[in-house]
Amino acid sequence: MSYSKPKFKEKYGNFINGKFVAPVDGEYFDNTSPVDNSLIAKYPRSKQADVENAVAAANAAKETWGNTSAAARAALLNKVADIIEANLEEFALVETCDNGKPIRETLNADVPLAVDHWRYFAAVIRAEEGSATELDENTLSMNIKEPLGVVAQIIPWNFPLLMLSWKLPPALAAGNCVVLKPAEQTPSTATLLMEKIAEVFPPGVVNVIHGFGPEAGKPLASSSEVDKVAFTGETTTGQLIMQYASKNLNPVTMELGGKSPNIFFNSVMDEDDAFLDKAIEGAVLFAFNQGEVCTCPSRLLVQEDIYDKFMERVIARTEAIVQSNPYNTACMVGAQASNDQFEKILSYIKIGKEEGAKVLTGGEACKLDGELGNGFYVQPTILEGHNKMRVFQEEIFGPVVCVTKFKDEAEALEIANDTLYGLGAGVWTRDAHQLYQIPRAIKAGRVWVNCYHAYPAHAPFGGYKKSGFGRENHLMMMNYYRQTKNMLISYDKNKLGFF
Ligand code: NAD
Repeated sequence: MSYSKPKFKEKYGNFINGKFVAPVDGEYFDNTSPVDNSLIAKYPRSKQADVENAVAAANAAKETWGNTSAAARAALLNKVADIIEANLEEFALVETCDNGKPIRETLNADVPLAVDHWRYFAAVIRAEEGSATELDENTLSMNIKEPLGVVAQIIPWNFPLLMLSWKLPPALAAGNCVVLKPAEQTPSTATLLMEKIAEVFPPGVVNVIHGFGPEAGKPLASSSEVDKVAFTGETTTGQLIMQYASKNLNPVTMELGGKSPNIFFNSVMDEDDAFLDKAIEGAVLFAFNQGEVCTCPSRLLVQEDIYDKFMERVIARTEAIVQSNPYNTACMVGAQASNDQFEKILSYIKIGKEEGAKVLTGGEACKLDGELGNGFYVQPTILEGHNKMRVFQEEIFGPVVCVTKFKDEAEALEIANDTLYGLGAGVWTRDAHQLYQIPRAIKAGRVWVNCYHAYPAHAPFGGYKKSGFGRENHLMMMNYYRQTKNMLISYDKNKLGFF
């Protein structure tokens, strides 16, 4: 089944104080579709003045919103979930057009998962229990969780609606007002969502401003009128954002880059068992979402005694991936999100070759017919080499996996932990000891064991090392959007006795 490019207006506004408004200085930028490099629409090229307006609207709304009941906030979060769900196909199409990812992924993963995150945090706030401790027979210590106030959120382009849905629901559930900046490459689903939910929240509770990092993101992260900055993006951008926020002593959470190992022990290689097929698919998941996933299993580590046989099957499975029109439900790998990204990936493949890595399959741009020929497609690529190469150490963020062998558990762990990053990892084994001990020894915030690329709302997600700090998803997320007030209450009629 095939869909076609959705319709857009000529230009869109920022969403501030419950209304769509033009950028203060009237400047817009062109947003294009990576599917065929065609124009989508114009979006505001926001600057400091737009940020100030959005932050002021959020500040004006925070007292009232922060004092709404959990039940009232939950009802609105559920309403958003219902609205996205009722328009699932429209959101999926717009996301595919804006980002280049296959329609079967947006229909079956991105949009349903986004819905689930809104519902999850609606449920979390109603299920919470308070904490009060009797310190002695006359004194009660009571902890009350209060919202921070106004939260700035800055997100990337690889899962536009889903990253928004990781960020907005917990912040709103906790009683904060938000100013969110989507990535300039993918402003469309955030805008579509604001159109559909314009009336759901009181004006100022949710605000979305578009624009580039240094022009719109920097003033937002630097604002003395926000109370927290939540960021997802590259590690180097995260370092800048921490500097901006530090001037105001604002707390930050950082969801950054990765270079995740995916480790296959020899016990997976049993031809008579369906599990081998699952493991092969697990190895090929490096190409999922065109490799534009922060936890992309971009380093493949295979035990040496199964290496040849295992890789033969991994290569065959990779070569069977359908790369075609992203609007067609048969498409498994679509377009890279932008020309910049496309060129960056090809330059890394070149660097790999120059470093002596061997191309086992792929290694080129993928030329599709007709108008798709203007889009940004890269063949799923396997490079064989060693862990000291740049292609093993640096985040490529494309459908490129770098494979190497290991002898035993100790060597697997040494290679797995030998990068600056610590976001995700995969461990594949039938050995009961390995399936516990190896994940325990890997320095990463999420280790998938005999699976990969699952992101349920109720499992905490986040990085070790240069992959960031703080967590997304799970009810623990609420603590990153609140502060604790302790009330110490005395019921003693007797005087204190100090003076
Ligand atoms: P990026 O850092 O270039 O941009 C992310 C966002 O930051 C965008 O909205 C951008 O406009 C903004 N930005 C850029 N420079 C800024 C500045 N100086 N001040 C303020 N804002 C600025 O990242 P990207 O290329 O959009 O996304 C890819 C990166 O995101 C990868 O490194 C990937 O691993 C990471 N990522 C991490 C997670 C996670 O949960 N850990 C999830 C998705 C993506």
